[in-house]
Amino acid sequence: MIDHTHDMSAMSWVEMGSGRIDFPIQNLPWGVCSKHGIVVAIGEQAVVLREAIGLGKLQFADDIASALQSDSLNAFMALGHADWTEVRHALFEMLIGESCPEVLCALSELMLVMPAQIGDYTDFYAARNHATNVGKMFRPDGDPLMPNYLHLPVGYHGRASSVVISGTDIRRPQGQLKPDDSAPIFAPCKLLDYELEFGAFIGTGNAIGDRIPMDDAMEHIFGIVILNDWSARDIQKWEYQPLGPFNAKNFASSISPWIVTIDALAPFREEGPARLDGDPDILEYLKPVTDDVLDIQCCVSISSTKMREDGIDSLQLSKSSLTNLTWSFAQMLAHHTSTGCPMNSGDLIGSGTISGGTKDSRGCLLEYTWRGTEPIDLPDGTQRRFLQDGDEVIIKAWCESGSATRIGFGDCAGIILPHN
Ligand code: CA
Repeated sequence: MIDHTHDMSAMSWVEMGSGRIDFPIQNLPWGVCSKHGIVVAIGEQAVVLREAIGLGKLQFADDIASALQSDSLNAFMALGHADWTEVRHALFEMLIGESCPEVLCALSELMLVMPAQIGDYTDFYAARNHATNVGKMFRPDGDPLMPNYLHLPVGYHGRASSVVISGTDIRRPQGQLKPDDSAPIFAPCKLLDYELEFGAFIGTGNAIGDRIPMDDAMEHIFGIVILNDWSARDIQKWEYQPLGPFNAKNFASSISPWIVTIDALAPFREEGPARLDGDPDILEYLKPVTDDVLDIQCCVSISSTKMREDGIDSLQLSKSSLTNLTWSFAQMLAHHTSTGCPMNSGDLIGSGTISGGTKDSRGCLLEYTWRGTEPIDLPDGTQRRFLQDGDEVIIKAWCESGSATRIGFGDCAGIILPHN
């Protein structure tokens, strides 16, 4: 719900710094750092919740105060939307009230760690353009979209154990590959790729046997992060039938460290997702009932080791938007739990690669270079079809509209290390 915390004229006593501001007072995203526990970003600083509560600058009931002084966000997420909003309002009041810099720590001094313990991670495949492009490449003779695609959000159960925080190096995986002209071999992945996605952290879950209906689904989501689902295309191509991705997707998925809450995103919600002429009707349990499409913009850039050594800026590849999804996070959650599958606080669901309909909005190298047939010229004179050792992939995201303050997500970055 849009309220006074989204007021464009609201100003904090915290200095915002110069340049583009990701974390104005209208945002207040959540993170965890190794030294101070739970923190909330504001400008180029972060509120240390332990300090603010310990000094009496923030006052809450015992269950909220206790959750906010732990080393992960799981307990706070489990409290529910009313408590998340209460804490947002209290933080807002503190940050526009009397100055209390003793509760702050500079972002540059924080060692950010995983914001929550992720029990289960599920990745979806919710952008039709991505599914269509991949379908054309992997199954050139048939309909690129499988018959189920427009009836349900397709997903697979991923590995929570390999979700890592932005800045973690990514080791090139090895695996079983099938060259066109020989028997399978075990070798380092040659077709290493990123996938431009977002992840939704589940705040409150459901008991086994219960469902989360569409009209309640957004209430269960705590917030959103950028997600890079690193992918080994050559491993994927050989292993994916008949049960879908396995080792091609289980070695690393990076997330941005700051969780932007659904409350902060209130001014950027839209109706939808749009269906196209001729699309089949959606079954009742998946019909959108609230403004659950999030208008979040994103872009992906790449830099080689040499570019960084020579001080050359990273090269922007594609720019996309979460509005490109054919299925919303609410629909993914309603479908995921439609069998009574329980979700827990801190579970993560990924959107799937967010590609638009144009080349400059394709969300992975497989699509962007069209399986390597349209290589990218980097400013250091080299070419890329897929990722090389030393390459850094940086995803940025933000929300912008004429009627709300711009908010950002920070970066989701990772550098490829050689295989071991
Ligand atoms: Ca993916």
